[in-house]
Amino acid sequence: MSKKNTKYIFVTGGVTSSLGKGIVSASLGLLLKSRGFNVTIQKLDPYINIDPGTLNPYEHGECYVTEDGAETDLDLGHYERFLDSATSQNNNVTTGKIYQTVIEKERKGDFLGKTVQVIPHITNEIKRRIKILAKENYDIIITEIGGTVGDIESLPYIESVRQLRWELGENNSMVIHLTLLPYLAASGELKTKPSQHSVRQLMESGIQADVLVCRTEHKITKEIKAKLAQFCNVPAENVIESIDVETIYQVPLELQKQKFDEVVLKELALPVNQESDLKDWKNFLKKYKNPKKKVEIALVGKYVSLQDSYKSIAEAFIHAGASQDTEVKLRWVYSGDLTEENLSENFKGIDAMLIAPGFGDRGIEGKILAAKFARENKIPLLGICLGMQIMTIEFARNVLGLKDANSAEFDLTTKNPVISLMEEQKNVVDKGGTMRLGAWKCQLKPHTKLIEIYGNKNITERHRHRYEFNSDYLDDFEKNGLYASGINPDTKLVETLELKNHPFYIGVQYHPEYKSTVATPHPLFVALVKAAAEK
Ligand code: GLN
Repeated sequence: MSKKNTKYIFVTGGVTSSLGKGIVSASLGLLLKSRGFNVTIQKLDPYINIDPGTLNPYEHGECYVTEDGAETDLDLGHYERFLDSATSQNNNVTTGKIYQTVIEKERKGDFLGKTVQVIPHITNEIKRRIKILAKENYDIIITEIGGTVGDIESLPYIESVRQLRWELGENNSMVIHLTLLPYLAASGELKTKPSQHSVRQLMESGIQADVLVCRTEHKITKEIKAKLAQFCNVPAENVIESIDVETIYQVPLELQKQKFDEVVLKELALPVNQESDLKDWKNFLKKYKNPKKKVEIALVGKYVSLQDSYKSIAEAFIHAGASQDTEVKLRWVYSGDLTEENLSENFKGIDAMLIAPGFGDRGIEGKILAAKFARENKIPLLGICLGMQIMTIEFARNVLGLKDANSAEFDLTTKNPVISLMEEQKNVVDKGGTMRLGAWKCQLKPHTKLIEIYGNKNITERHRHRYEFNSDYLDDFEKNGLYASGINPDTKLVETLELKNHPFYIGVQYHPEYKSTVATPHPLFVALVKAAAEK
């Protein structure tokens, strides 16, 4: 166990979902980290899936991938982007994982003779998963509990928090309850009753909230704070306003103004003397809000009606844009609607294009048309994962003349599978957690755009795929100008492709978007924004 006295912060939500617990947790993490504390953030998801890897992005937004290959909730992306530090398998726990572990133990005979029950067996496993992070020597662990207080499926988590608070002892843990103050336009009032009820509901489960963070569209008056304090048993300074702001990156500053971090540190009996340093963060925000240039980049994907499906990509453009004093406007293009006839109209006036990752054959032909358009019109293009595979298919069909070229994912009978199933995937039957996942090495060749962009020949990037560039065709591709600029040094898998005589035509089998943070914008996104501005 850790030698440190690790402190635990639990973040619960009340009244409605989608109040932004993830952003509040990430903001608090940033404020504490900037005071010198070693902080990590964990998400507990009450659904029964083992992980969100098999969920449709429409259900749950993007699936975020960690360095160690966990397929996780998109909130982990926020944690990494705010804290600029990596999360892992241990940072996302689901009810599915909890039950799987307990049932496996039961089958092994670990509970022989005993009835296995929600309390204590499930709650013990939840507590173990929360405390496991303390072994990594964090000063503070923030645990966000998914769902809303009162949901049947979050009950075991709430009960585990109750037990832990008792076990950890005074000043070693605290509960932050995020709630909504609805505004009644007719009477021009913010209402506190739903928050009173949700705090009371938490108390019925044996938990007293220490801090209330109130989502609101309007400023909270002193009187309302006093009222909430009185009804919810917290000091008035522990009632924090979380007002709607134009960007999520503003939230830490709004919370800091109200001394949110100080309130938290006092509750945990931690020193408040060290001032937090948000100089770089403020500088980023200033650049983001005062761009000197503007570019428009088409994001070609098949989940275009829901921006959460490409969350990390959109955020990576914000980080890269700010670093270049450039506003990046994204034009969301649904590839299912693209035809030869409407291509130029759809891409009129764009400065660059990104072809998104994805699975399945819906919208594929539209993406192929988009890649052709970018290649022929010298529009800077970045293809990510499926995007790179699309660039491969397009080039094979239209430059190499292999008319039936395709990915084995979409056409098993094609004579020219320029994208084929990876060898190690051939015997895989299970869908969950079986892709090539997480960080893998890539070696960049000299005199390539990518080595210039990264400034380093050995890189590692995160992956999530089953199919790969079929190296049988590599010679043919390279002779015609599309060459492998990066390969995995161990397996020789083609990781990146670049086109000669084009300002920026780059496909990557990996997902650079997962590694972009506010503090460290990803060089590939920065390069695409620069190329767009130059166009
Ligand atoms: N469907 C493709 C594969 O499995 C691409 C995956 C992706 O874009 N993440 O290889």
